Parts: sequence; structure tokens; C-alpha cells
Amino acid sequence: MSTEQAAGYFGSFGGSYIPPELQEVMDYLAQQFETYKNDPEFVEEFQYYLREYVGRENPLTYAKHLTDKLGGAKIYLKREDLNHTGSHKINNVLGQILLAKRMGAKRIIAETGAGQHGVATATVCAMFDMDCTIYMGAEDTRRQALNVFRMELLGAKVVAVEKGQGRLKDAVDEALGDLVQNYRNTFYLLGSAVGPHPFPTMVKHFQSIISEESKRQILEKEGRLPTAVLACVGGGSNAIGAFAHYIDEPSVRLIGVEPDQAPSLTQGVPAVLHGFKCLVLLDENGEPRKTYSIAAGLDYPGIGPEHSHLKESGRAEYYTVTNEEVLNAFQVLSKTEGIIPALESAHAVAHALKLAPTLTKDDILIVNLSGRGDKDVEQVFHMLQNQ
Ligand SMILES: *Cc1c(COP(=O)(O)O)cnc(C)c1O
Repeated sequence: MSTEQAAGYFGSFGGSYIPPELQEVMDYLAQQFETYKNDPEFVEEFQYYLREYVGRENPLTYAKHLTDKLGGAKIYLKREDLNHTGSHKINNVLGQILLAKRMGAKRIIAETGAGQHGVATATVCAMFDMDCTIYMGAEDTRRQALNVFRMELLGAKVVAVEKGQGRLKDAVDEALGDLVQNYRNTFYLLGSAVGPHPFPTMVKHFQSIISEESKRQILEKEGRLPTAVLACVGGGSNAIGAFAHYIDEPSVRLIGVEPDQAPSLTQGVPAVLHGFKCLVLLDENGEPRKTYSIAAGLDYPGIGPEHSHLKESGRAEYYTVTNEEVLNAFQVLSKTEGIIPALESAHAVAHALKLAPTLTKDDILIVNLSGRGDKDVEQVFHMLQNQ
């Protein structure tokens, strides 16, 4: 095992289970990331665009009305929903495209399921004048026609993958094929804290700005650390970013929240998925189980390796919430605070609604509001009509 591979393990999870030709590409990427991540010019450039383009730092908003209504812990919201493009995804795509530029890449490729990561990637490609190709399952391009239009508006080429079932997995295969062919000038921009090493480490690095800010902000506002930090978990990038600077603070509970129909962490077993080892939901044939979530961003049968480890070691806790609880949380936050959360983020809010009343007024919860809900309003409208 090379040192890069060893460095990519979290307990027994993570690593790199990929063909040799892809391993070479990943080894080079890992080495380049190590070279640049603490390079003062690189760090300064990242901070410049976080400030001037993303709009950071974003606030840690005290949710007074929600707190009063629940009558327990004080609730603060970390406002990733206020970032440019409306979610935490921009932190990661910005960091990776700056790295791609340093590495001399001319082309960016990515895969996308519902389209959110594709739109974020197309956004920074427009900003940095990079050639951009987004692979998307043909079935997904039909269901998400507006996101396809958004990506094209931003100058990206969207490739509809007809192979296989025309879904995310087939798009991943096409994107990896492209990378192996074109790695000399092409950078594969991955959207969550998943995949072979160095992706989980790299995505965490760029997303940990969330907890770097929230820790400073809560110490300024309250003079102490929170009781718990809550975040929704799809692949795990907003959650690992929201947890990062609290992992070594044992007094702070770390709480991840999953949909009850995609409960990788609560029901998964160790297995290799998409080139790395993590907790995976398997069906009776040992194949990755079909998951379903009302929040497209949480619909993934695996989970980042570090979350798998945080779960196994007991450092973090993971819970599920039902669709009904999520829909309720979506409406409660809208009415009490005037903030419409993304359906993904509403999972974290839903758990906070249950947890806060069981705690005291001396407790503090930080809920990571990973994104805004504008994209989900029409879907929620139809779901509520059909209830
Ligand atoms: C994509 C997305 C998620 C899920 O991805 P993670 O990598 O688990 O953070 C959560 N919230 C929003 C708003 C998203 O767009």
C-alpha cells in the first residue's frame, strides 16, 4: 500500500479501490493537493473568492422565534443558504477549480444526479473561463430539464448518458472513462466527501470553512462552545465541514441526520462503493440498495468514509427523520424565521425540532442550513396538495 493510500484511511474506511491507471491519476492529485493546500498564495486566492464571489463569511443567525416556540436549547443557524448559488456546494467547487488551475488543467469534468453539483461546477467554470463537461444520466436530464438549461446557460456542455439505466452511476462511469483518457489536461471535480483518496480529505478541507467560521462566531456570541452541531448527510460534505473544527472538542455532540429511506449510517454495512470503503446500504443480493429521498441531494446508498468512521468510533451520532417530519420542519422554519430551507437542510432542522425541547436553556444547538429552499418550493407545493 502506498503512503497516499494509507493517508486516505479513516479507521478501516476510505482508501482507494480503483484500477491502476486511475490510481496513478489519484496519486498525482493527492500529491498536488498536499503541495498547494497550505501554500500562502493558494490560501489567499481561495479566501479572496470566498469573500468576493461566494459572499463569506455568512452569518450564524440566532433563531429566536424558533427557540421560544420550542422552549429548550438556544438554536443558531449557520447560513450556507446565503452563499452565491444558494448552498454549501460552492465552497468545494471553488477550492477544487483553483487547484485545477494550479495543476494546469484546461478542462473540468463532473457528474451530476439531480443537477445541483453540475450547476455549481458550471458556475465556477464560467467564472474561471474553463471548458466544462457535465455527465448526467439521460433519465436525469429529462427529469431535471431546468438544471440542464442552467448548466448550458453557464456555458457547460451537458452529456446525456444513455448507457446502462441512464442514471447517476452510469454518468460516473462515463466521467471516469473520460478522465482516464484525458487526465493530462482534465480535472475531475467531485461533489461530495466521497470517492477514492484524496477526494474525501480534499472536500473536507474546502468545506471546513463552515465550522472554522461557526466556532469563531459562537465564541463571540455566547463565549462558549455549542452543546451539539447538526447537519444533514447525503454524501457527507456539508456535515463534515460543519463538524471539522469540533471533532477534537469532546464536549460538542456531532449529529448527522439522514432520510429514513436512505439510512446509510444507521443501517449500512462496510463495503466498497465507487472506489472507496464506507458504510453502504445493500440489498439481499449484496448490491447497493435503491434509495429514495424527497431531497435529491441526500439520495445516495453510501456515505463518506470519515462519517463511517465517526459512526463506528462513536464520536458522532446519526439519526433518521421521516418525510413527514421534513415537510413539517420546512414549513416551521419558513413561518417562524422567514427562512425557507432546502429540503436537504430541513432534515437537520427536523431533528433539531425533536432535540431542542429535551434540552435546557443553557444548551446551544448549531444547525447547519446547507442550502435555501427556492429550488424545492414547487415540489413541496405538490406534496402538500396530495396529502
Ligand atoms: C447536495 C446537497 C446536500 C447533500 O450533500 P452533502 O455532500 O451530504 O452535503 C445537502 N444540502 C444541500 C442544500 C445540497 O445541495
